[in-house]
Amino acid sequence: MRGEAKKTKPVPLLDLKAQYRSLRDEVLPVIERVCEDQAFVLGSEVEAFENEVANYCGVEHAVGVSSGTDALLLSLMALDIGPGDEVLTSAFTFFATAGSVHRTGARVVLADIDPATFNVDPNRLEAGRSSRTRAVIPVHLFGRCAEMDAVLDVAERYNLAVIEDAAQAIGSELDKRRAGSFGDTGCFSFFPSKNLGAFGDGGMITAKDSALAHKIRIMRMHGETSKYHHELVGGCFRLDALQAAILRVKLRHLDAWSEARKRNAEEYHRLFAEAGLDGQEIQVPEIPSHRHIFNQYVIRVQRRDELMDHLRTQGVGCQIYYPIPIHLQACFRSLGYRQGDFPHSEKAAAEVLALPVFPEMTIEQRVRVVDCVREFYRS
Ligand SMILES: *Cc1c(COP(=O)(O)O)cnc(C)c1O
Repeated sequence: MRGEAKKTKPVPLLDLKAQYRSLRDEVLPVIERVCEDQAFVLGSEVEAFENEVANYCGVEHAVGVSSGTDALLLSLMALDIGPGDEVLTSAFTFFATAGSVHRTGARVVLADIDPATFNVDPNRLEAGRSSRTRAVIPVHLFGRCAEMDAVLDVAERYNLAVIEDAAQAIGSELDKRRAGSFGDTGCFSFFPSKNLGAFGDGGMITAKDSALAHKIRIMRMHGETSKYHHELVGGCFRLDALQAAILRVKLRHLDAWSEARKRNAEEYHRLFAEAGLDGQEIQVPEIPSHRHIFNQYVIRVQRRDELMDHLRTQGVGCQIYYPIPIHLQACFRSLGYRQGDFPHSEKAAAEVLALPVFPEMTIEQRVRVVDCVREFYRS
């Protein structure tokens, strides 16, 4: 029963081992090079990678940091945001966006999303603004750029700093500009499951302004301006050379991977439409005319938790990003939000399901995912 054996072959949500197999011969020599050098923190690999990322994103400056979370935290610190300040962001995002604001002592103020894009609805940002608002953090969720024109309008009107949470969006575009080039800073993550993933943690801050970039660079290393002289209090937010060397190899493949993800997304659209599923039980994500890099391919579905169980039983990897919106997280109870405050975020949290969209996916794997979804709704 060869057909059956094939049918039960699992489809992972992400196959990093397949990616590693294709890169092994390129990656191992650079790891060896760093080992021979025994220079592990910052240094020439990090500098070269910073220049390559600045170039890739179309920005003047890029500063390698320890993670996407630290990119957000350090951006806020460098902009002197702290107690008494308020920062606007999306109610539907990864925890780190809001968590970083909270850690500075500033107050997190949330706004609901546009249900079509999962990104913060710029029209809802103003409702949360006050005289204490200092910054706004648009999140390019799942790899699709937020509506930056409108976000920048609000920021300009009220003189707010703009920190892009571009952790999921390296190379994503809007009006021919790339994520990370719109705001005062852009925050990137190289967590292994991101489109450009390290062999551990890593991050990057992009910045337009040289004075701000310089401040970020100093604060990345305890605010040290010369050996043991500290002009500012920063933190230990450094990127290490091994990660930078590995990421430089991977950056050369990033565009091909992002294209493959988009091709997979388009293929899903065709397959779901052919299966007669799109629109009723499931809604596929929009494919915008500008470049969306599909860090996640997220559908909305009815009976989501049952579908997830079914897919997992069938060996199809899937995941909920994110099951609880920020305003309903236990640690943010003190913010005073309640169930019902951000209905679009709450609905998204109840309906979303991410399906495998990784670049190395085969056509058979995509067909298998769609077959399993169809099986669930048609049985
Ligand atoms: C991954 C992610 C982060 C945090 O990045 P880390 O490198 O894991 O610290 C922040 N925001 C969003 C939207 C993310 O997806």
